Amino acid sequence: MFRALVVEKDAEGRTSAAVRDLDEAQLPEGEITVAVDYSTLNYKDGLCIGPGGGLVRSYPHVPGIDLAGTVETSEDDRYGPGDRVVLTGWRVGETHWGGYAQKARVKADWLVALPEGLSTRTAMAVGTAGLTAMLSVMALEDHGLEPGQGPVLVTGAAGGVGSVATAILSHLGYEVAAVTGRPEAADYLRGLGANEIVPREELTEITRKPLESERWAGCVDAVGGAMLGRVLKQMKYGGSVAAVGLAGGAAIEGALITPFILRGVNLLGIDSVMRPHADRVRAWNRIATDLPLEKLESMIQPAVLSDLPKLGAEILKGHVRGRILVDPN
Ligand code: NDP
Repeated sequence: MFRALVVEKDAEGRTSAAVRDLDEAQLPEGEITVAVDYSTLNYKDGLCIGPGGGLVRSYPHVPGIDLAGTVETSEDDRYGPGDRVVLTGWRVGETHWGGYAQKARVKADWLVALPEGLSTRTAMAVGTAGLTAMLSVMALEDHGLEPGQGPVLVTGAAGGVGSVATAILSHLGYEVAAVTGRPEAADYLRGLGANEIVPREELTEITRKPLESERWAGCVDAVGGAMLGRVLKQMKYGGSVAAVGLAGGAAIEGALITPFILRGVNLLGIDSVMRPHADRVRAWNRIATDLPLEKLESMIQPAVLSDLPKLGAEILKGHVRGRILVDPN
């Protein structure tokens, strides 16, 4: 038997989540059984713990879109008992049972072996949000971003993606401007390495101007909506925006073609879910070297399985700061 957070749906279509004991025989199909050390909480988990936002297909369901742990049994040559592994994406925690459990059964193709020096705890303090932050930084670098070109903007900075992006960029020597709607998060963001705090309201008004003054050499955008529309017009010549999230809206409001054709601005799409294995390995290796672990510690809020229904609702309201580290044991 093992413990898990189980979401059930009643005859009226209402969902409820509670910690339950499950039998290993109930685990879904997969070649690898992992003893889960840690999971974490992401925006998508908030959806899957609640009514699902259309992501969960069948109930009862075990959410948790990422996990790190130790291989218990393996039917795949690439992994053996005792190997430390991390899993993010592949719709685990949505269409397949996820990490909010003491055990998970998954496909070998979905796993990444943890690099030397990265514990399962650290891997989940980073989690999907942090991996996505690193993929964003790598995309900006691949498009020519280097320290010294000017400030790099991070939107939704006090959230999971934004916090890790701020810490990584600062550690790499970039000047970081952090956008937040929470003035009380300013000290926290400066602690992560932000040089400048930009109040959210400065970037949410929709304007019809074709371009604004050039301000940002690059941007990691977790917010979308009106903010992304504004930021595109404020990019320096040839600068790139890594579009990661839609915490502020799924449309790019007020956006025009002008930044692309007059300033050569690039809009780079970042997906972490179906990302090929080689990119994941590259990103986890970069995390092991380029994420200052002492800063990561300041982002962590510990949680257990029974905390998740409440925390899931909070992350959907944008009230969670940094990274929630879930210990299912
Ligand atoms: P969090 O909830 O931790 O962070 C989101 C942050 O966005 C909030 O903390 C808040 O920052 C800001 N925000 C929230 N609502 C608004 C709003 N209405 N207007 C402006 N800013 C707002 O979520 P995550 O960091 O985990 O995820 C961020 C986004 O990235 C989500 O949309 C998520 O779905 C997406 N994502 C995408 C991935 C991918 O593969 N592309 C992977 C992981 C996440 P502050 O309080 O500082 O203003």
